[in-house]
Amino acid sequence: MSQYDYDFFVIGGGSGGVRAGRLVAGMGKRVGIAEEYRWGGTCVIRGCVPKKLMSYASQFSDEFKIAKSFGWNVGESNFDWKTLIGNKDTELERLEGLYRKGLDNNNAEMFDSRAELKGKHEVYLKALDKTITAEKILIAVGGTPSRNMGVDGDDLCITSDEIFHLEEMPNSIVINGGGYIAVEFASIFAGLGSKVTLVYRGEQILRGFDNDVRNLLHDEMVTKGIDVRVGSTFTKIEGTSEGVKKVSLTDGTLVEADQVMLAIGRNPMTDSMGLEHAGVETDAKGFIKVDDYSKTNVDNIWSVGDVTDRVSLTPVAIHESMCLIETEFKNNPTKPDHDLIATAVFSQPEIGTVGLSEEDASERYPELNIFRAHFRPMKKTLSSSTEKMLMKIIVDAKSDVVVGLHIMGHGSSEMAQTLGIAVKMKATKADFDRTMAVHPTAAEELVTMYAPSYKVIKGERQEV
Ligand code: NDP
Repeated sequence: MSQYDYDFFVIGGGSGGVRAGRLVAGMGKRVGIAEEYRWGGTCVIRGCVPKKLMSYASQFSDEFKIAKSFGWNVGESNFDWKTLIGNKDTELERLEGLYRKGLDNNNAEMFDSRAELKGKHEVYLKALDKTITAEKILIAVGGTPSRNMGVDGDDLCITSDEIFHLEEMPNSIVINGGGYIAVEFASIFAGLGSKVTLVYRGEQILRGFDNDVRNLLHDEMVTKGIDVRVGSTFTKIEGTSEGVKKVSLTDGTLVEADQVMLAIGRNPMTDSMGLEHAGVETDAKGFIKVDDYSKTNVDNIWSVGDVTDRVSLTPVAIHESMCLIETEFKNNPTKPDHDLIATAVFSQPEIGTVGLSEEDASERYPELNIFRAHFRPMKKTLSSSTEKMLMKIIVDAKSDVVVGLHIMGHGSSEMAQTLGIAVKMKATKADFDRTMAVHPTAAEELVTMYAPSYKVIKGERQEV
């Protein structure tokens, strides 16, 4: 009999933690898992899932607009925020229940409690005022939105934590940030009918993405009525007695809105977690340092997911947990693979991408062939919509391997998932060319662009 209360104790009931806890418990180990808020973590409770539901809701306004061109008269439409929020909450309760059930069915012991480290093997459960011991510990506590811009009136702003629980839909909203969350919520609120201002300090939104995609998304967002202000940020936020907030920007302008949202990145939830009692090292920002196998500097403590500052995405946290289980519980050392992760931004139009941007690829490969199609998708051709779709394939000229793929337009997130397999398998452009098109689809462009649109040689664009 082990000297510890548990073989494996997980702190954090989000995507990474629940997967690890459930599977290790299913192996017959004595597993405990603690969650201080709600089971499912950021992704299920205040991230990917509610965001995607809201994104679906926001797309109907565009659908209603083009419906007319197909002969439909949808009549007067109106949107009810409370219905959406209520239905979303019901669905989240269902999902949270499934997370609990999965753990319960595998005999993992769940604690609705904050958990803090008291030592290398000791975990204090606040709700029970009790310390338990565990042979192995996994820290999967995730992150929390950054709330501090260091300007007057920060405290008047909301973040992605509050946005899902607003009593009323804001008639107007100012969002600061140019990353995933900022552009996704700008699109959501614009689609639902709010007046949206997106303020970003850099020169173009979505830093790190392919420049073509960044520029075209910016243009499409403006066409959809979003006031996109790049090269600007907040200097002050002031409240008024009517509830309206006044936001002063570095460009000297003042924007008024019902809500002001910060989407300026996320911080690790490591504050007062007791890491020092176990000697777990963090970096300067508080993210837990791990090795290639997700192990911390302490031999019996691991960490996965957003709290480790590798790639902050739900499937990555799950993958890191799966690798940890292989390594520690199946005697099969497996490093998580963070290369070529396909990802989507649920902006409108949405973005699907895998591999390198043209800019990054041109630093890595001396010669690139770029295949690019920018076209009006068939669904929009009967209407007055000017929305266009982008498909861009970046190919290393020497090996013919596809090193980057970027799509903007309807269905691109779904395409990115399947294309991610091809790119991961190191598919060549010739493989794409000999793949039969699925007709009529937008995606067929991906296998029918036979001649490069241009080349990039030693970083310089050259027409062909
Ligand atoms: P991101 O890191 O994507 O973007 C943060 C943005 O805030 C950047 O534009 C950054 O600017 C800006 N910023 C940072 N600090 C400041 C500051 N002090 N003042 C003004 N602007 C600032 O973070 P998000 O919060 O959007 O999302 C967090 C993470 O969640 C993402 O990295 C992503 O991994 C994940 N996520 C994934 C989604 C998906 O898969 N669809 C959806 C939502 C979130 P700069 O570029 O100049 O640094």
